[in-house]
Amino acid sequence: MSPAEAAETGNQSKGTLRVVQLYPRDMNIYGDWGNALVLQRRIAWHGYTPELLEYNVGDPFPDDVDIIVGGGGQDSGQLVIQDDLQARAGRLKELAEDGTPMLVICGLYQLFGRFFKTRTGAVIPGISVLDVETRGTEERLIGNVKVSTTEFGEVLGYENHSGQTTLGSGVRPLGTVAKGTGNNSNDGQEGARYRNIVASYLHGSLLPKNPAIADFLIRTAAERKFGSFSPGSPDDTYAALAREHAGRRPR
Ligand code: GLN
Repeated sequence: MSPAEAAETGNQSKGTLRVVQLYPRDMNIYGDWGNALVLQRRIAWHGYTPELLEYNVGDPFPDDVDIIVGGGGQDSGQLVIQDDLQARAGRLKELAEDGTPMLVICGLYQLFGRFFKTRTGAVIPGISVLDVETRGTEERLIGNVKVSTTEFGEVLGYENHSGQTTLGSGVRPLGTVAKGTGNNSNDGQEGARYRNIVASYLHGSLLPKNPAIADFLIRTAAERKFGSFSPGSPDDTYAALAREHAGRRPR
């Protein structure tokens, strides 16, 4: 909430939450930017002041990060950011291990893992925050996805990737795929969970249709920073419509 909005409603901000969006210039496809916008809006709806920063290749890394969000990208985008990401690996690992809430989608999900071996055999090293490995294949996995049995209820989104990810024992899956493919064409699982990180292949964007994940990130950030989270009254009208629509989409 801006100071002007707070004055209008007569509400004091409950404090500032700083969201850092990783590499939006190179890693931001199929609407992933919407995840940052949803966090910004819902933080304000909960009565806190959102601060949204972009981090691109070569920028100084911001201090006092409360939430990290990162999107997908083509293999070419992943090649552009790989050196910078390696240079930031230590900081990102430290934040992850410390419990910073993070959402990483597709291309950055892959690079938060151990490596991504592309279809042409190039190996893009990851930062090993997540115990996962990804290999490019000739098959492109495209379509609408429903993930059942997650801690956030049913998760809905859209996938488009040729990399297939296998999970190691250090992470657990986000959920089981009820429609679509998810991590790979073998095990029927989608995404990964580790500490307060949610990793997923789902674009669309993810958070407008899955506000429970947005609120998990915000609640965790507030609890870490202020010791507790006091929720506001978000307007879920459009989220409900988006879920209904996404749920009816054919494959
Ligand atoms: N380039 C990666 C793949 O195709 C990631 C694509 C994406 O982020 N949607 O597997």
